[in-house]
Amino acid sequence: MGEYNSLQNWQTKIKMSVKKIGRVTIGAHAYYSGGRSSEGPSASVDFKVQAMSWSDIPGESCHKLFKDELTAAIEHMKQIGPEPKIGNYTGGSDSEDYKAKYKAYKAAGDEYKLKRDSITNELKNRCDEKYDNEFANTIMRIRTAKHKDVFFYKRNAYCFDRPDYSDEEMLLQIMDLEDEERRKFERLRNKFSKAEQEEKSGKRPAIPEDVRIAVWRRDEGKCTKCGSRENLEYDHIIPISKGGNNTVRNIELLCEACNRSKRDNIQ
Ligand SMILES: [Zn+2]
Repeated sequence: MGEYNSLQNWQTKIKMSVKKIGRVTIGAHAYYSGGRSSEGPSASVDFKVQAMSWSDIPGESCHKLFKDELTAAIEHMKQIGPEPKIGNYTGGSDSEDYKAKYKAYKAAGDEYKLKRDSITNELKNRCDEKYDNEFANTIMRIRTAKHKDVFFYKRNAYCFDRPDYSDEEMLLQIMDLEDEERRKFERLRNKFSKAEQEEKSGKRPAIPEDVRIAVWRRDEGKCTKCGSRENLEYDHIIPISKGGNNTVRNIELLCEACNRSKRDNIQ
């Protein structure tokens, strides 16, 4: 009995050893503190992880990862110079002189903000691209402010109950966790779906489990047309009725809306 309990504890521990803690989004900022002489152009990138506070992910980790992008943004900021300031005028706020100068400074300020926003957007795009190209398929470890390690994989953030798993062991656990999630949502979605009823009544062959797993992994659990994660369906590229089969190559993930518009286009 004691042996059974310890085995159960061990299984529970294995089950609890990885936890999804949020989605990763990258925020980027470029600015120039022109008002104070001690400060120059500056740029920063932060990972925002839903369900975690901003301060949990320290800036310096991101600075190291996006060093080249930040350097380029700082160079851009140097070129556009400091933000124009609206000065203090003694002539009274309703004097024509003040109004004209205010208007000119306001226009210069608006133009500055447009330039700064475009640098910020460019910085965000470059960091997004870099993340997707270089980091999204590897496990990336970030030490948070609370000295807890967070692991990023494919735009999701995870934490593990033990710090000593190898990358491969962590990846296997993440895949298993995602698979568990996939099975759960599939069960819920298929509960009342027409295709499932037809499969159950034997009107059409069921898509094998291993094909579902492979398709879900390949399409990263989102609609291949619009990227949505809502109401996903397994779509036969060549319909069963037209001789298509239940192979990974003939099946893709589509959301309900994209699947419906595809059907409407075929008819
Ligand atoms: Zn879609």
